Amino acid sequence: MQKINLRTKLNNLRKFDLKHKRALDRLELKNVEDLFLYFPVRYEDFSNITLIKNLKINEKQTIRGMIKSIKNKRTSKRWLVLTEAKVEDESGQLKIVWFNQPYLEKFLRVGTYVTLNGKVELNYNSVSMNSPAFEKFKFDSKCGQILPVYSETNGMSSKYLRFILKPLLKLSTKFEDFMPDEIKNQLSLIDLSEALRQIHFPDNLEILKKARLRLAFDELFLLQLNNLLKKKKWQENKAFKIKFDEKLIKKFVASLPFKLTKDQKIAAWEIFLDLEKDKPMNRLLEGDVGSGKTVVALMAMYLIANFKKQSILMAPTEILAKQHYETISKLLGGEKSVSRLRKKKQITIGLLTRVDRKIDNKNVSKSFLVNKAKKGQIDILIGTHAVIQEDIKLKNLALTVIDEQHRFGVEQRAKLKKININLKNSPHLLSMTATPIPRTLALGLYGDLDISILKEKPIGRKKILTKLVAPYNRDKAYEFIREKINSGRQVFVVCPRIKASEEKCDSNQNMWDDIKAVEEEYEKLSKEIFPEFSIAMMHGKLKKEDKEKTLSKFRNNEIKILVSTSVIEVGIDFPNATIMMIEGAERFGLAQLHQFRGRVGRSEIQSFCFLFSDSMSQKSYDRLMVLVNCDDGFVLAEKDLELRGPGEVYGIRQSGLPDLKMASLMDGNLLKLAKAEAERFLVKNNIKKFPLLREKINIFCQTTHFE
Ligand code: ADP
Ligand code: MG
Repeated sequence: MQKINLRTKLNNLRKFDLKHKRALDRLELKNVEDLFLYFPVRYEDFSNITLIKNLKINEKQTIRGMIKSIKNKRTSKRWLVLTEAKVEDESGQLKIVWFNQPYLEKFLRVGTYVTLNGKVELNYNSVSMNSPAFEKFKFDSKCGQILPVYSETNGMSSKYLRFILKPLLKLSTKFEDFMPDEIKNQLSLIDLSEALRQIHFPDNLEILKKARLRLAFDELFLLQLNNLLKKKKWQENKAFKIKFDEKLIKKFVASLPFKLTKDQKIAAWEIFLDLEKDKPMNRLLEGDVGSGKTVVALMAMYLIANFKKQSILMAPTEILAKQHYETISKLLGGEKSVSRLRKKKQITIGLLTRVDRKIDNKNVSKSFLVNKAKKGQIDILIGTHAVIQEDIKLKNLALTVIDEQHRFGVEQRAKLKKININLKNSPHLLSMTATPIPRTLALGLYGDLDISILKEKPIGRKKILTKLVAPYNRDKAYEFIREKINSGRQVFVVCPRIKASEEKCDSNQNMWDDIKAVEEEYEKLSKEIFPEFSIAMMHGKLKKEDKEKTLSKFRNNEIKILVSTSVIEVGIDFPNATIMMIEGAERFGLAQLHQFRGRVGRSEIQSFCFLFSDSMSQKSYDRLMVLVNCDDGFVLAEKDLELRGPGEVYGIRQSGLPDLKMASLMDGNLLKLAKAEAERFLVKNNIKKFPLLREKINIFCQTTHFE
């Protein structure tokens, strides 16, 4: 007989039919190890047996007894087969009914002992247990079974998975425990092999709890260790020390057309402290839409420029890059009050995207721009990822700022982080995001970063009045909008999709019919509702030039209403737009709706957000009312996470969110524990002395798609 180990291919253990083969492929279960690491999603608890005479109606319970009779019956509806059985235990008999499983008649013959788990119901005066889960057992077998239920995909039942895993269970001892003893002892964690056995076939609920804790802790601990090691490695790089210049910064702040908020000052201060160190900063600046992140980053870039060093500001879209270029040019010298700043030292600003190459408002060629940047003659280089594609090595790069960092793909972000790294001086790194990530989640996700948060909105901002508009009030809302446009304001309309779908799903016909598509909405608004105003469309399928043209017209107030898909979600800034209308609002998540809403309310003028929805469940209604009543992005993000989970809200792959199997990133307590333990461990120990742990971290990071 062949020797079986964890690497043994399942194919070599038994012959699978095509159906099972395909299912194993789909689940990526290749060898014995994979099978162990494919955890159940829940359990059927056969351990808690109720006597038939004590059963309660409408509750899920487990009974155990012998089949006294079993027979298939055809019903009046011809396609339905009922299998009716009588089961008896020492206290009485009960009718059992299964639907459309005629083979049961042969499988559960009279005299078979079974455990049944299901709901007991009362129908037409007859008590029965309907469609229970069942398990045969030998009368003398050990009682108290809790059976694993796996996420079932076509062609692979939990029963079958149990059947192939159970005989392999003793191989669990082949898993080497990577968890250092001191941590296991400290937290009374059970051994890995024990945990892996118990997670599939638990002896009782108590040990199952321990197995779960062990495996969940493993994931968060590895995640945190990885974060800390990354941080340590990052800090091994050398960075330019940028000395804080109080006079200079005070002058800059005084030149701004507004007063900084307290949070902006604190964040800037945290950044200045980081810049003074010779280790590169790695900081995340989190702030709700409109909280004023740009100017915080600009303060750092300004200081650095005066230090004769360079900064890059990277934006996820061309629109945004251009907008940053314009605002920053203005703040650094466009206005009279600021021109003094430029006299002292000319700050050169460059813009590099696929369509724009500019230095200080002059169009230049790409090679000219790139050359100048390389030589250190551009102080602030603003651009899209076109900048990384050029593989620019800036001679004096001291700071990379990544705006709306969650908009970049995982790979792009990894690349961005590497800009100029490994030169003698690595740049400091400032990432910014408008997606408010609750602290606990940020801890798991970005444990290698330091975090600054802008919670406070700039003073003078009025709360955006948010209303859920009932269908019969639609005309009223349009009238209101007409008035506002006539008094000079502008409007965004957001729709869920570009084109009305041609194909109709039968069951969801109403849903598809009701979707407000951008094109349809544009037609309707420009022909029927607001023929007197100029209206334009914006969506991802438009050509770059057309997008730019439309936006610049909108900025100049030549366009009054912009009908758009969710592309306008990313931080664009049009202070004169004061009304946000969202069609099909129930189709967006809370965090996203809040982002849309953040496109207005960017000046002192009262702004409005109208949510439209023509068909809505109570659940959607409740969710939208949360948005109506709350304008704190952090609270909304937390609510969203509670309702939809981190994967849905932030997108697993796109956000670099680890794809955990057992732990939840929402489990703040376990996260904190894992972080504290990881920190304590690394202070005391050298990871090199724990090769097994080291290897496990690497594997874990690959398989969880973590950056
Ligand atoms: P976000 O954090 O969403 O990127 P921005 O940096 O684009 O926000 O700032 C939004 C707007 O608020 C900009 O027009 C900016 O000039 C302005 N702003 C920034 N800070 C303040 C402040 N302290 N007071 C008033 N307006 C401010
Ligand atoms: Mg921004």
